[in-house]
Amino acid sequence: MKENLLHNLKIINQRIKNACIRTGRNVDEVKLLLATKTVSAERIKIALENGETLIAENKVQELKEKYEDLKNIPHENHFIGHLQTNKIKDILKYDVSCVQSVDRLELAEKLHQRLLTEGRTMDIFIQVNTSNEESKFGIHPDLAIDLVKKVAELNSLRIRGLMTIGLFSAETEKVRACFKILKNLQQEIIRQNIPDVEVKELSMGMSGDLETAIEEGSTMVRVGTAVFGERIYPDSYYWDEGK
Ligand SMILES: *Cc1c(COP(=O)(O)O)cnc(C)c1O
Repeated sequence: MKENLLHNLKIINQRIKNACIRTGRNVDEVKLLLATKTVSAERIKIALENGETLIAENKVQELKEKYEDLKNIPHENHFIGHLQTNKIKDILKYDVSCVQSVDRLELAEKLHQRLLTEGRTMDIFIQVNTSNEESKFGIHPDLAIDLVKKVAELNSLRIRGLMTIGLFSAETEKVRACFKILKNLQQEIIRQNIPDVEVKELSMGMSGDLETAIEEGSTMVRVGTAVFGERIYPDSYYWDEGK
């Protein structure tokens, strides 16, 4: 089991490297984030002990369950699932350093208020729905820049980038179109030079489409299945509200 995991990690890192080389990018421009939903703390530990440093959960419940087992191993923890405002306290309690799934002003405002109370700041990404699928969270691309401007005024939140989940499709060009939307938004935000906004990071690309995402400018690929194996639940389970 351990050999398998280490083998998978090696292959993923090689895929990232190959995609970078092929597209003329530096290998260190693209970070690997391990999407650890349903993965036991024990297996996550193996990855962290093997040099990985960045993990992310979709559910606050899982974050909580694995916290004790992982807290003494140096790593960075992001949150990539749909976040209900009543769980914000837990996100802070369990040392999440970045919420990548900020997709509405109400969430940003509540997060900001809580951070103010605790005298802290936090990195966030704005999640954009680039595939136009109702099942996916994220702000509509046409509304994204307006949200960025409003969130930028909340001074305990530092916008560091944009995140998207590409279309699930075997047609590469349709998936690519999603990533292009995110890249174009980034360019437009940079062009508008919005105070306190730095959108260096583009979190896009997963097990099946990371090469396309890297070709389109991804700086962070989020990989689960290709490292840890298939999950029992469909992804929609992790994206649905209230489960
Ligand atoms: C599960 C998940 C991933 C990783 O997906 P895989 O296809 O398993 O690599 C990436 N991003 C989000 C938001 C996820 O929920």
